[in-house]
Amino acid sequence: MAPSAQPLTTSVPDEKYANVKWEDLGFGFVRTDNMYVAKCKHGENFQEGSIVPFADFHISPCAAVLHYGQGLYEGLKAYRTEDGRIIIFRPDQNGLRLQAGADRLCMPYPSVDQFVSAIKQVVLANKKWIPPPGKGTLYIRPILFGSGPILGSFPVPEYTFLVFACPVGRYHKDNSGLNLKIEDKVRRAFPSGTGGVKSITNYCPVWKTLAEAKAQGFSDVLFLDAATGKNVEELFASNIFIVKGNVVSTPQISGTILPGVTRKSIIELTRDFGYKVEERVIPVEDLLDSEEVFCTGTAAIVTTIASVTFKDKKSSFKTGEKSLAAKLFATLTDIQMGRVEDTKGWTVEIDRSHQG
Ligand SMILES: *Cc1c(COP(=O)(O)O)cnc(C)c1O
Repeated sequence: MAPSAQPLTTSVPDEKYANVKWEDLGFGFVRTDNMYVAKCKHGENFQEGSIVPFADFHISPCAAVLHYGQGLYEGLKAYRTEDGRIIIFRPDQNGLRLQAGADRLCMPYPSVDQFVSAIKQVVLANKKWIPPPGKGTLYIRPILFGSGPILGSFPVPEYTFLVFACPVGRYHKDNSGLNLKIEDKVRRAFPSGTGGVKSITNYCPVWKTLAEAKAQGFSDVLFLDAATGKNVEELFASNIFIVKGNVVSTPQISGTILPGVTRKSIIELTRDFGYKVEERVIPVEDLLDSEEVFCTGTAAIVTTIASVTFKDKKSSFKTGEKSLAAKLFATLTDIQMGRVEDTKGWTVEIDRSHQG
């Protein structure tokens, strides 16, 4: 199924599920019933917003987001459990990250409580779009942007916080592991830039690079640091880990890589398994020389990397059921899908009586 195809038709009131061909779900936009919108004037705080029907909206042609890229996004998932509960994974972490990004891009932001409440409301208002257990998840997309007009001078008069959701299936289609291209020319982020926040300005500038890699048959791109061009940073939208013996390493958070919620969770689970985890500078040579490599993210979950190609030289790594990535994937998804008791306090169950 092409990402842009819509495998769905409509949802009928009072039906438990929307009319979706769950088996065909990919990772693409699907129109659902409702969204959450809150607006905030310059100099004020975000007040409680409201759930409205999903629809296009009007924006000034001079909106700050359209001209100066003043915008952030977030991404998290809601899961339907086998025993009929609905849970979300660490939404407070996304709320905190949105705040850090808003601060960087000069925007006011919702409190973490408001953020989590908005997520819960959107999930409940689109409940029939949450796939049956095992068939996918409801991907929730919060955005925060400068919606007021600004041409020359500050401040931006108005900001919008909006949350919508789409049912999704797998992000990477390659079941047997990804084949990455190590990009040795184009950089994604630079020191003191916005690589460490989910700024909308970080993604489209590397689409061309990603498209070229895909045209060459690669699954994704692995970017190197801009300062030296020698060290591994991350993929288009997921973090990277390497495994060597009992040591698991991942690039440290220094402002150029995105601090993933999945990354943070995987570090903790890996330590629980008895591995030593190092957050450090990782030269490309270290990666090429490792036994196993995997990437993490809300969309990617934990995905094994079968090979990387650096300057036309391909290196392959361990994949399959015996890999650490497979073990971590199973452990993390058991928690996320509510199949085991959550001893970490990472999941938030959505209370049916939740009114906001
Ligand atoms: C969103 C994102 C990630 C993964 O973050 P999660 O919180 O784990 O979903 C990693 N890298 C980039 C560049 C991202 O945009």
